[in-house]
Amino acid sequence: MKAAVMYGPSDIRYEEVDAPKCEEDGFLIKVRAIGLCGSDIRNLTSDSANGHYPKVYGHEIVGEIVEVGSECDGAYCVGDNVYVYPGNPCMKCRWCRSGQQEMCTSGVSYTDRMGGFADLYSVTSHQIASHSVYKLDEGQDLVAATLAEPLSSVYACQDNIDVRYGDTVVIIGAGPIGCFHIQLARMRGATNIIMCELNETRLELSRRFGADHYVCSGKEDAVEKVMEYTNGEGADKVISATPTTFTQNQAIHMAKPHGTVVWFGGVPKGSMAEIDSNTVHYKGLWIYGHYGANSIQVEDSFHLALSPAFEAPKFITHVLPLSKINEGIGLTKSGEAIKVVLIPNEDAPDAAELLSWEDSHGWHGEES
Ligand SMILES: [Zn+2]
Ligand SMILES: [Zn+2]
Repeated sequence: MKAAVMYGPSDIRYEEVDAPKCEEDGFLIKVRAIGLCGSDIRNLTSDSANGHYPKVYGHEIVGEIVEVGSECDGAYCVGDNVYVYPGNPCMKCRWCRSGQQEMCTSGVSYTDRMGGFADLYSVTSHQIASHSVYKLDEGQDLVAATLAEPLSSVYACQDNIDVRYGDTVVIIGAGPIGCFHIQLARMRGATNIIMCELNETRLELSRRFGADHYVCSGKEDAVEKVMEYTNGEGADKVISATPTTFTQNQAIHMAKPHGTVVWFGGVPKGSMAEIDSNTVHYKGLWIYGHYGANSIQVEDSFHLALSPAFEAPKFITHVLPLSKINEGIGLTKSGEAIKVVLIPNEDAPDAAELLSWEDSHGWHGEES
């Protein structure tokens, strides 16, 4: 089979590799569509495996079952389309039992196994038992379903901080995650949504989600603009969705007294943030670090990603064959793409329909 194999930072080659085996108690899927995630890009362009290459990443997986092990759970059949969430919580530890599967310490990290940037992917019985596999209904959109994974942490965040009717929400960072945040905040009833972004191309692209105000933080003082758009009060909820500690501190100055600040975006390992702690103290702020999603939130976001109300086509700007993964990385890094979805098995007859997804399903600028 073919896979996008990493040999070192930014050295990714589309080549022939051994196919994974179908486990007795698991099943094998033909990967039909897979999202290219910011974390994949971080892993693929840095020495993420500490010299242990070759390596295959990819975790926003949607595929079709092509082989079922003899001991596998009878609920899965050849031909079923499934979405596979990458988390593998144990469902037994204290965190799992209290509904905080994202904090499970005894699960298997998905980056330790072969990922989905490949024609085939093996699903284990452990993934099935940990509620990480969801079946798509007949006719549901395989490309849109890849959004379920990146959406899950955004969904969980807004669920946990209870974004609701009347809220003023500031989102810093207009990457795919920031765009999910706008869309979801709107769906949950926020009435004043402010998007702040440094990169102009990215900011322009995010206008399709209809935030109330857009701030180009490269050109304007983002804190000042937020104050202006909130009558000098600050926002109820400020979400820093960038990979820098700079915006984590900026968020503190954008929040209103007793407001909530979310440190959503992960920053480079070992980064130390300089925080205006007196502002946190005197404004009585809540600082919430967000990561992941619990099992129920994972399930809810799978259904949300496929719901027409969520408007998946607005997010997926590029559908490319897996062999063009390097192009996908470039488009995402420059801000030209919101979300890139890759199609493995690109020469198979059934890939043609997915590769022309943008023509048939893509968003072409009509108002929602
Ligand atoms: Zn992801
Ligand atoms: Zn656990």
